[in-house]
Amino acid sequence: MMLNKKSVDDLAVKGKKVLVRCDFNVPLQDGVITDENRIVAALPTIEKLIKEGAKVILCSHMGKPKGEPKPELSLAPVAKRLSEKLAKEVVFAKDDNVVGENAKKAVAQMQDGDVVLLENTRYRKEETKNEENFSKELASLAEIFVNDAFGSSHRAHCSTVGVTKFVKESAVGYLMEKEINFLGNAVNNPERPFVAILGGSKVSDKINVINNLLEKVDTLIIGGGMAYTFAVAKGGKVGKSLLEEDKVEYAKQMMEKAEQKGVKFLIPVDTVITQEFKNDTPFKTVSTMEIPDDWEGLDIGEESRKMFAEAIQNAKTVVWNGPMGVFEFPNFAKGTQAVAEAMAQIDATTIIGGGDSAAAVNQLGYGDKMTHISTGGGASLEFLEGKELPGVVAVDDK
Ligand code: AMP
Repeated sequence: MMLNKKSVDDLAVKGKKVLVRCDFNVPLQDGVITDENRIVAALPTIEKLIKEGAKVILCSHMGKPKGEPKPELSLAPVAKRLSEKLAKEVVFAKDDNVVGENAKKAVAQMQDGDVVLLENTRYRKEETKNEENFSKELASLAEIFVNDAFGSSHRAHCSTVGVTKFVKESAVGYLMEKEINFLGNAVNNPERPFVAILGGSKVSDKINVINNLLEKVDTLIIGGGMAYTFAVAKGGKVGKSLLEEDKVEYAKQMMEKAEQKGVKFLIPVDTVITQEFKNDTPFKTVSTMEIPDDWEGLDIGEESRKMFAEAIQNAKTVVWNGPMGVFEFPNFAKGTQAVAEAMAQIDATTIIGGGDSAAAVNQLGYGDKMTHISTGGGASLEFLEGKELPGVVAVDDK
């Protein structure tokens, strides 16, 4: 897919101040970064700008501080890790109002090739409302804006959309280009057979994704908590498993649509059930269509794992978003593991749509076996829905 947007390669940045929106929303535990993938993914754009002699001003959100400074959501640990990765000092502008005295002073002192990181953009309540005043403040620091935050590009915020109106020039970064090229090509120009796998807890979150993917795929696999709504639509009984009753009719329509389009539609044939929602509890495997009243399904069963793995084995393109079960409990992670393993073994384009599936694949050590692991769960889902991402739309056309 050709992205008709200005890229970092189209910019003349020497001596210019370039504000880069990154997605440094990394998981932290007691102030320590537990997964640095998003930082690593941001390096190519930053390194390129440094090499070209730009003054590189980085910004990002972290978590949900809800418009006020929360010390535990400061980007200070990111500045430190980034300095190590770049082998170069990253000056952290520690302003509770993000664009404050520290930021202005740090930017004024920058030499070509220097790097400054601003504080968490969501310390400001205007950020998520895309209010003009904060967009202008951000833009006042730089001449050029680069959006490399794929994981935040589905949100129209000051630092992803608003800021583009008040800078001279804007472009997308390398990570953004890479994400869009991989996801876009996989979905719109797939080598076939094209198999998509959806899991997770809610049908309602993925309604438009299912509908859109049915136009594109050869096989659609549904697992996780959302599968039970489809089982009920087929006349099954699912006990106290997750069920969205108001989506049963929709589930029926989707299965009819699949039939009309000749798309193979797979839901789990068997399910691992328990009476209590925890790891250490007795479990057994039954037909997905006959789950007893007091029991709930927490994972796909062995037959389903085999069936899904077989469908994956023949594929030339696979896109996966959402776990097959409650993978946070080791006893109920086998379905999610089986899908990750099947994808890791094939010679095909394999794409992980961020979020829980990305975490699962990395935890299992299959990260380098996949063609592409998206850094954006929500953003990649909206992309799979066929939506345009506001953070991309707002950037200057080529
Ligand atoms: P989502 O946020 O919709 O992507 O869903 C991810 C969550 O779905 C994970 O936290 C899983 O534990 C949960 N999940 C997957 N399968 C099931 C299931 N059968 N029952 C309850 N929760 C599930």
